Parts: sequence; C-alpha cells; structure tokens
Amino acid sequence: MPTALIVGGGLGGLAAAIGLRREGWTTVILEAAHQISEVGAGIQLPPNSGRILVKWGLKDKIEKVACRPRTIRHWRYDNAAPLSKWPFPSEELMGAPYWNIHRGDYQKLLLDEAIASTLSSPVQNPGPPLKIYTNTKVSSVDCENGSVKTTDGRFFSGDVLIGADGVRSVVKVAVTGEPDHAKPSGDQAFRFLIPVEKVEKHPELNFVLEHVANNHLGPDAHIVHYPVHGYKLINVVCVSQDMGLTQESWNQQGSREEVLKAFEGWSPEILKLLSLPDKYLKWQLIKREELHTWVRGKTTLLGDACHAMVPYLAQGAAQAVEDGAALALALGSGLPLDEALRAYEHVRKPRTTAVMNGADDARTSYHMHDGVAQMKRDNALKKEWGKGSISPHWAYDAEGEMDKHLNELIGRRDSTNPESSR
Ligand SMILES: Cc1cc2nc3c(=O)[nH]c(=O)nc-3n(C[C@H](O)[C@H](O)[C@H](O)COP(=O)(O)OP(=O)(O)OC[C@H]3O[C@@H](n4cnc5c(N)ncnc54)[C@H](O)[C@@H]3O)c2cc1C
Repeated sequence: MPTALIVGGGLGGLAAAIGLRREGWTTVILEAAHQISEVGAGIQLPPNSGRILVKWGLKDKIEKVACRPRTIRHWRYDNAAPLSKWPFPSEELMGAPYWNIHRGDYQKLLLDEAIASTLSSPVQNPGPPLKIYTNTKVSSVDCENGSVKTTDGRFFSGDVLIGADGVRSVVKVAVTGEPDHAKPSGDQAFRFLIPVEKVEKHPELNFVLEHVANNHLGPDAHIVHYPVHGYKLINVVCVSQDMGLTQESWNQQGSREEVLKAFEGWSPEILKLLSLPDKYLKWQLIKREELHTWVRGKTTLLGDACHAMVPYLAQGAAQAVEDGAALALALGSGLPLDEALRAYEHVRKPRTTAVMNGADDARTSYHMHDGVAQMKRDNALKKEWGKGSISPHWAYDAEGEMDKHLNELIGRRDSTNPESSR
C-alpha cells in the first residue's frame, strides 16, 4: 500500500487522511502540537463539505453534537433591526444539512473516523487506521523525495507528502520556493462561547437562543452567533478592524473592555451579549493571495497552507475538507503521481481562489458604513425576506468536479495509448 505523509492534524489534514484511507492508502500525520485538539470555538459546516462527510457515513455522529440552524438572519448593528430572515435550503435539496458545530467536536469525530478499525461507511480494501505522531514539528522539507526532517532530528518520508500545516506552512514555502506571503487582512476576531443557561437569564437576548445563524452588520465590523454543542453553548465571533494589538495565534486572550470598546455604538442587546463571557480569545485574521503552484515533486498542499482566507463566507475549513476529498480521489485514480497531483491542483486552485475572492467581497458588503450603498444592501436583504437563497459555494460538488476531470484525463490517456496501465 502506498503511504501518504501528511504534515498537520487540523481539520484539513484529518479529512485528507480519511479520504485517502478510503482509497486504500496508508496514512501518517505529523503534528507539532502535543495532542490533536481544536480551540474552544464554533464553526459553520456548510453543505458543500457536509455532503462529503455524509457520504463518508458521518451524518449520525455529526447530528449527535451539531446544531441545525433553521434560518439565517441579518440585523442592523445599532438598533438590532432585522434585515433578513432566510430559511436554509433543505437537506433534500442540498444533500446535507447546514450544521453549526463546536470545533473540538468536529476534530474529534474526524480523528475517530481516521483511526477507527472500521470505516463508518465501509469501502473495499481501505487503508489501515491513521498513524499519528504528535509533538512532531517539521522543520525542513524535501519536496522531490516527499520527505521531511523534524525539529528534533527525525526523518519521515512517504510516496506523497501533503502540507496541511496551516497558515504558516513550512511545506508551502518549500513547494513554492518563495517566502511566506500570508499577510494580515486588516481585521481581528474576538471569539467566545457562552453557556445557554447564562444567556437564558436575559430575556432581551431570547433571539440568541433561537435555532438561527445570526449576522449583525455594522461599519468596519460584524458579529456572527449561533448555538453549538447540542444547543448547550452559544458561539460568538466578533470581527472588527485590527487595532494592531492582535497576533496570529489560535490562543491569544482578549478582554471584555477591548471587545466592548471595539463595538461602541452597537445596540444594548449586543453589548449585553458581548459582556457575558468570562473568557475571550482573539485572532489576527490572515489571508494569502493565490499561489503560483501547489505542487513540487512528490509534494502538494491543502487547506489554509495554500488558501488561507478571511472567514466571512464560513468556508475555510469547508474548502480544506473539499481539498482532502478531491486529493484522495486524484491519488486513488491510478494516474501516475505527478499527473494526479497536477489534476488535483487543476481542479482545486480555481475553486478555492473563487471562494477566497468571494470572502473578500463579503467583507466589503458586511462592513459598509451607513450611506447609499448600505441602504441598497439592506433593501436587497429585505427583499429576499422568507425566500432563502442558495449560495453557489454550497452547491459545488468537489468530488464530482474532481471525478469529471480525472475521467477526462484517463479517457485522453486511453485514446492516445490503449495499452496505458493505470
Ligand atoms: C475567526 C475564524 C472563524 C472561522 N469560521 C469558519 C467557519 O465557520 N467555517 C469554516 O469552514 N471555516 C472557518 N474558519 C476557517 C477555518 O478555521 C480554517 O480554514 C481551517 O481550520 C483550516 O484548517 P487546516 O487543517 O488547513 O489548518 P489548521 O487548522 O491551521 O491546522 C494546521 C495544523 O498543522 C499543524 N502544524 C503547523 N505547522 C506544523 C509543522 N511545522 N509541523 C507539524 N505540524 C504543524 C498545526 O499545529 C495544526 O494542527 C474560520 C477561521 C477563523 C480564524
């Protein structure tokens, strides 16, 4: 069995490990942290990634811990006036629900699947359970040979090397041969979780408890909140202009004063919500431009390592899962490795660039100052009241698109060389 060596055990690395196991690969993850774990925050799991997880047999496990918002709502920042109420498209239409989930729950269910002795949706001849080396930080990369060296001097190699090592990827630097170009987006995010029973004590916050994904829009800022963890916690993400105080870290602590200052002038309901938590985390939001290549030798990239984006479409992790599933199909196609990696890049690079650009556009729309453009935006939102629209990003079929391209390539090879062995 060929071996895939994956650097990074985040959501993207784990999704790739599951996809590759399903294609019969042996999978190994090298993870810098001392254990595979996620930060205490929620994440939206849209149907474009949900469909892949449903196909992998994970629906029941997700349902046990995730929440299904019934509608998405937009609100005005200073008086909490409602601007929209759209039902999410149905599960029947999309092939998966729209889920909100705690990151830790998400990470755990992917990890459990990757290391399980039997896959949730069995396939013929799967690869063995994932092997993970924690406390294993990669320091240098040989892309041509698919091998790495760790900070403590160990060497690992694989038939393919996958850089799923996030926004400051060392594998990305080796693949592109260029220094890191990920840069601050100009925005920061405060994130926190509030127990539902704490919110219940404040009747003016009843709207927070509804099964809704909420988006409050204000000048240079927006706030998203929704229930997670089986409706036991409310996840809140507050995005505002970066005042130069944040670092790019998943664990930097913020304070109540900082959050309230960043959202001065917002409605009393929102300020009450922001004052409830005991602990605030803050992030500098990072983005990168499209890379000139994702492939060198036996090595490729996925997730934030190659397309870190601002989180305004809630698609970063969803794209990493799409990458993992598509890469697994390419590597399982029987094409020679270099062709399989180029096929993966051919399909995934334009898709993820379109999503990155869409996320930048969403920022412009969410963060408008009051004025003509903002009034037009609000009127457009209100016009759609009750109708619901399907984001084209949710409808995208990552595996279908990958399969289509692979079939074209294989068809072309067969017609030029009927003897070609796959
Ligand atoms: C505020 C905010 C809100 C978001 N909301 C959403 C959302 O609602 N929906 C959504 O889909 N996405 C969302 N995202 C984006 C999403 O969090 C990321 O896109 C996703 O986590 C990327 O996953 P990844 O596996 O590519 O990278 P990461 O999760 O960063 O994982 C990389 C892993 O590699 C390890 N690593 C790094 N360097 C090394 C090394 N040298 N050696 C070994 N291991 C290494 C790290 O320890 C880490 O475990 C949000 C992001 C932010 C900041």
